[in-house]
Amino acid sequence: MDVMIVPSHQDLAELGASLIAQVLIEKPSAVLGLATGSTPIAIYQHLVRLRQSGDISFKEVTTFNLDEYVGLSPKNAQSYSSFMRRELFDQVDVDLEKTHLPVCSNSQNPRAVGKSYEALIQRCGGIDLQILGIGSNGHIGFNEPGSSLSSRTRIKTLTESTVKDNSRLFKSTEFQPRLAMTMGIRTILDARRVLLFASGEKKARAVHAAVEGPLTASCPASSLQLHERATLVVDEAAARDLEHSAYYRWSNEQNKTVVSKYGFFHELTDW
Ligand code: PGA
Repeated sequence: MDVMIVPSHQDLAELGASLIAQVLIEKPSAVLGLATGSTPIAIYQHLVRLRQSGDISFKEVTTFNLDEYVGLSPKNAQSYSSFMRRELFDQVDVDLEKTHLPVCSNSQNPRAVGKSYEALIQRCGGIDLQILGIGSNGHIGFNEPGSSLSSRTRIKTLTESTVKDNSRLFKSTEFQPRLAMTMGIRTILDARRVLLFASGEKKARAVHAAVEGPLTASCPASSLQLHERATLVVDEAAARDLEHSAYYRWSNEQNKTVVSKYGFFHELTDW
């Protein structure tokens, strides 16, 4: 796992957008796994600017979102479908037909929805780059602590802590779902490249557990220790509890030398 520590959330957003842009430039038809939440919003804003300046295009891109609430219509402003349109899709040249979320209405069978989402990801060639946030409890997507490390897209019950963390986004009169469809941990690990972003001290414990703790279903993000090409981009506050932060900074500096000498960092886009 590579860990990149940047000074602030703003730096995280700039770096994140430039890493994603690199992928789109090298592979315009990339399949992106996308995330919602507060963390990626600034990344998406940078991507919108890069699109406006003509540096990147989403025309050929296919997207699969990590998760979607069950029991909310995609038209509901609180749905992740609406979030994605608002924060990214409606502001770039993506073909909406090629954007996918694991939408499951109350009348659909979640098992069938999960299976067909997985099959669609396969048909589209698999995910080239998966973007992730991390919950303060270590979840990725809505894979809450205890989720099987071999899980695939399915319905999950949210933990009380996740419901509480997300309650800031709902008015007291609004329905806040307790169920969601989410890609599984196995689905995420199948992506060719993974970028996890974490910002703020509320994430510090989870980041430490994910990077330096044991591989355990109790911290779903620790599953990334099994991934060959996972990079965590964290700001100083989220890096607070990392025991080996001096090493991560040092190795980032060394990597720059390696890159300039061997062009190694093409790893990100070396398909
Ligand atoms: P946040 O959520 O970006 O809103 O902090 C991340 C997550 O829960 O995965």
